[in-house]
Amino acid sequence: MISADMEGATGVTWTGDVIPGTEQWQRFRRLFTADVNACVTGLVAGGAQQVVVNEAHSSQRNLLLEDLHDAARLLTGRHKPLSMMQGIDSDVDGVVFLGYHTGAGARGVLAHTYLENSITGVWLDGVPASEGRLNAALAAEHGVPVLLVTGDDLTCEDAVSYAASAWTVAVKQCVSRYAAVCLPPAVTSSQITEAATAAMACAGRATGVVAPHRVEIEFDATHLADAAAIVPTVELLGARRVGFDAASMTEAMKAFKVVTHIAAEAVEGIYG
Ligand SMILES: [Zn+2]
Repeated sequence: MISADMEGATGVTWTGDVIPGTEQWQRFRRLFTADVNACVTGLVAGGAQQVVVNEAHSSQRNLLLEDLHDAARLLTGRHKPLSMMQGIDSDVDGVVFLGYHTGAGARGVLAHTYLENSITGVWLDGVPASEGRLNAALAAEHGVPVLLVTGDDLTCEDAVSYAASAWTVAVKQCVSRYAAVCLPPAVTSSQITEAATAAMACAGRATGVVAPHRVEIEFDATHLADAAAIVPTVELLGARRVGFDAASMTEAMKAFKVVTHIAAEAVEGIYG
């Protein structure tokens, strides 16, 4: 399975590159699709029999089906209970986090955790958590190894901290949140293919471990924390911070989805 986000795709450095409908987004959809295809090529060369690509960015309708590798199947569109990780279950032998980025409050190209600016930090069991760390914990619950992570160099550093055995490919070197030294697609494609092929050696399910988890979330404004605290089980921990306990990572991610939705709904323009 490939969970495909866009901020960490080849060449992407700017808001307009990833906002559906813009001219630059139309351009970067092609580069994003090329990254995915390079990954599918590598996974198949490494022995994968089926590859499901789950769209994980924004409207979750970014990849170009007409250009997709023949061996892949595309889960496109939004409103999926597990969002970026829809499709993860005990039938999956390995997951790739493609086009990922660092978390809210961290350095990195287009760094954020779900909400671009409103969330300033997320902690999973006390550890600052990127989307990669959250999603890796969900994969672990199903016994699914993280095979490969692609994104900027700081995303790759982050990956080492939550999935030590995963391969990484840095398609760009972060200079600022909106700037990077980018490798051209011809170069990143071959690097992604090579890493995906090699990473297939780590494919294969282990026994999943279901355990309770604690998630804490900090917002950039008090009313967003107040809005999130409406959700049952979510408690206000400070003026801008909420937290909740969940019986499993699956439950934690579902609660997290509700919290991000209700907080996003409470954002009001520049005084959001
Ligand atoms: Zn994204």
